[in-house]
Amino acid sequence: MVTRVAKPVGTPFGAFPLRAHSSDDKDLLVDEARDVLGSYCFTDCTAQCCRHGKLPLRTAAEVAVVAGEQRAALERSGALAQNPDTTSSLSLEKPCPRLGKDFRCTIYADRPSICREYPLFVFGTRIVVAPDCRGAVAGLLDAHLARLKEKGYTIL
Ligand code: SF4
Ligand code: SF4
Repeated sequence: MVTRVAKPVGTPFGAFPLRAHSSDDKDLLVDEARDVLGSYCFTDCTAQCCRHGKLPLRTAAEVAVVAGEQRAALERSGALAQNPDTTSSLSLEKPCPRLGKDFRCTIYADRPSICREYPLFVFGTRIVVAPDCRGAVAGLLDAHLARLKEKGYTIL
């Protein structure tokens, strides 16, 4: 995210519903809040959410762009697995294959939808903040979340 990065520390992705978008997702303030993390993601947090937990991939295209040439190896090792529905999950026990050495996403413009949403997941007028996002825990999102609350969102 920025070359900001997404994903959870022993959490989120497995726990969050795979369809988190709503019309409210287009709210610029939500996007601003995501972007406020900025360089903190790769300088301070060092992309924890790209290096821990599970990365849900909603479409075959997302699997292709993230796994790339490593797909067969990731499937053989069990790190990349198809879910009972049409989605897949990539274990981040090892860092995401698209994470650069500088802790920036190397496919930022094409990153999966979950990476675009993290650490804020919008469900109508409710916003779930990923509990393991270090930037969120450090309070970097607080000002934006307060403004979103004023606009009628419930922050969870
Ligand atoms: S856990 Fe939060 S602060 Fe850390 S890289 Fe991910 S989005 Fe950025
Ligand atoms: S695709 Fe990019 S943002 Fe998403 S987990 Fe991988 S490195 Fe992080």
